[in-house]
Amino acid sequence: MRFDRLRLNGFKSFVDPTDLVIREGLTGVVGPNGCGKSNLLEALRWVMGENRPTAMRGEGMEDVIFAGTTRRNARAHAEVSLSVDNRDRLAPAGFNEDDQFDITRRITRDAGSAYKIAGKDVRARDVQMLFADASTGAHSPALVRQGQISELISAKPKSRRRILEEAAGISGLYARRHEAELK
Ligand code: ATP
Ligand code: MG
Repeated sequence: MRFDRLRLNGFKSFVDPTDLVIREGLTGVVGPNGCGKSNLLEALRWVMGENRPTAMRGEGMEDVIFAGTTRRNARAHAEVSLSVDNRDRLAPAGFNEDDQFDITRRITRDAGSAYKIAGKDVRARDVQMLFADASTGAHSPALVRQGQISELISAKPKSRRRILEEAAGISGLYARRHEAELK
């Protein structure tokens, strides 16, 4: 299972439809400060079901919608689509019949997010599970945020543990344990 294409429309600084072909091997994204490199990575995380606005550097999830500039109006929606090449048939059961399929997430102001897999309406959970089973996904330790390495080096032991737990995707387990202990 590999990513083929990332399409963005109205997502953060990508106000116009943008189609990014991801070729086999290593992909590098280069450009001046503020040109949208991190936004691209966030789009990838977002379409895989990321639901923490802070992981998108926002206060609310609608902050991912193009907010407008002096010359261009704000958008009412943002949409990101990810094409998955599944010729190796590694997608989990239920999604594993086709050589290729698309996952789409769309957010509308005041109406939240809607997800599709291969054109069918699905829940956020279905998308998150698809990637969880394929050991990738929005919380994958393979996705390292900008600044995370220097945070890790300079952090005190306790916050270093928290960063590592978040990267490993187990911080939720601790939150649930803490909740259980309080009961
Ligand atoms: P650096 O090299 O500094 O890390 P970068 O290429 O990673 O830069 P990003 O952080 O991806 O840049 O992009 C930042 C730009 O995206 C800023 O100009 C910011 O105004 C713009 N941006 C972020 N969210 C939105 C939004 N909702 N609407 C419009 N523009 C946005
Ligand atoms: Mg950046």
